[in-house]
Amino acid sequence: MRPIIPDYLIEVLKDVESDTSGAPAGYIPELAAADPERLGVAFATIEGEVYGAGDIDTEFTIQSISKPFVYAMALSDRGFDSVLARVGVEPSGEAFNQISLERDTGRPLNPMINAGAITVHSLVGTADLEPSARVARVIGGLSAFASRPLATDETVRASEMAHAHRNLAMAHMLRSHGILTEDAHAVVDGYTRQCSVLVTTRDLAIMAATLANRGTNPLSGEQVVPEPVVRQVLSVMFSCGMYDAAGDWATQVGIPAKSGVAGGLIGALPGQIGIAAFSPRLDRHGNSVRGVSLFERFSSDMGMHLMDIPTIARAVVRSSHTIGSGPHALQILELQGGIGFAGAESVLRAMDASFLENRLALDLTRVHSIDDVARRMLLEATSRLTLDGHDIYLVDPESVIPDPGDGGRLTEVDTVHQAMNPPYATAQHGSQRRREGLGQ
Ligand code: GLN
Repeated sequence: MRPIIPDYLIEVLKDVESDTSGAPAGYIPELAAADPERLGVAFATIEGEVYGAGDIDTEFTIQSISKPFVYAMALSDRGFDSVLARVGVEPSGEAFNQISLERDTGRPLNPMINAGAITVHSLVGTADLEPSARVARVIGGLSAFASRPLATDETVRASEMAHAHRNLAMAHMLRSHGILTEDAHAVVDGYTRQCSVLVTTRDLAIMAATLANRGTNPLSGEQVVPEPVVRQVLSVMFSCGMYDAAGDWATQVGIPAKSGVAGGLIGALPGQIGIAAFSPRLDRHGNSVRGVSLFERFSSDMGMHLMDIPTIARAVVRSSHTIGSGPHALQILELQGGIGFAGAESVLRAMDASFLENRLALDLTRVHSIDDVARRMLLEATSRLTLDGHDIYLVDPESVIPDPGDGGRLTEVDTVHQAMNPPYATAQHGSQRRREGLGQ
C-alpha cells in the first residue's frame, strides 16, 4: 500500500509551495541570508512515528520556538509561584519584540513575547547558576525534548547579538523593575544562545509531540517535564503563541502553537500529535507564511481545531434490565465506552430512575475508560445506595476502576452471572457481612 499520510503531506506542500509572499527576518542579518525556498513539514505521533515531506532534516535556528520549552523548564525548576510572580500569562496583542511591561508590577505580559522569554531564561535552574551553566541546562533541556543532543549556530548567534539592541533595552528595563535580578547583558547573551539552537523540522515535530504526550518524549520515553507544567505551557501557547495574530490563529486553526523568526512553526495537539513546519518567509507578525497556510489546511482537513466538538459519544448507558423476581431480582445497568462527567451524570440518573430492585449490578464490561471525576461520582452513588441498604455489584473484568474504594461498599464480580448465582446468590447477606466488617 502506498503510504497515505506522507502522500497527503506531499500534496499539501505542493499546494503552498507557489506562495512566495513575505520575507525572511531582516533584523538578524544572518537569517536574512537563509534560502527562502526551503519547505518542510512533519507529523510526530505520541507513539513516536514520524511522517514528513520536504526538507525535514535541514537544520535552522529554533528562535522563539524555544520559548515554550524553556518556560516549561523554568516552571519545573522554580515552581509556578515564583515564575508567575515575574512573568504573566495574558496575551499582549502586540508584536513579539514590543518593549512593554505590565503597568503596576513591571512584569512582562507573557512568556512568549521577548520580554517574557528573556525573564524566563533567567529563571531556569537554581538562582545561583552561572550564566554558562544556565545555557547548558537550557540546551540540555531542549535536547531532552528532541531526544538528541542539539548544538548552537555560532554565526546566527553572533549576528543576532551584534544587533540585539531592543532585547538589551528590554532586559535593562526588566532589571530596573527588579524583575531581572542578574546582569542584563549576560541574560540576553544566554537568551540569544537559546534562540540559536539548531533543530530540524523532524526535531520540532518530536518536541511538539512531547508536549502532546503529557511531557513524555515518545522516542526516549523520558518524562522531560511534569504534566501540570505541560498544561500550563499549552494553555499559554494557545492564547499567546502567535503574538498579535493569536486571536486569528485560535479561531481559524485552534491548535496550541509557536512560531520562530527562522521560519519554524510548531503545533501540539494534546493526546494526538506534534506538528512542525519550516519555511523562512514571514508575514508581518513574524510567523512563517507557508507554515501558517499548512496549519490552516491541517486544521480544516483533519478536524484538528481543539474547539471542534467531538461527535457525541454513544450513550454511556447501553441497557437497563431486570433479571429474576422477588428479593433476588437483580437490576443490571450495562454501561459502555469512555465515561467522563457528562456520562457519569447520565448513569446517576439511570440509577435513580431504574433502581426499583434491592440489588443492582453496574456492568462495566464494555467500558474502556473512566476518568477521575466520573469514577468518584459512581463510587459516591454506590456508597450512598449501600448505606441505604441496597446491594451493589460492580462487574469489572478489566478493572477500569482499579480500586473501588475502602471495601464494604461494593461487591466486585467478574461477570453478571456471578452476581446472579452462588456464591453471591445470598449476596444480600454477603454484602451485609461486608458492611458489618467495615464497622469492626
Ligand atoms: N531571537 C529572536 C529575538 O529575540 C526570536 C524572535 C522570534 O523568533 N520571534 O528577536
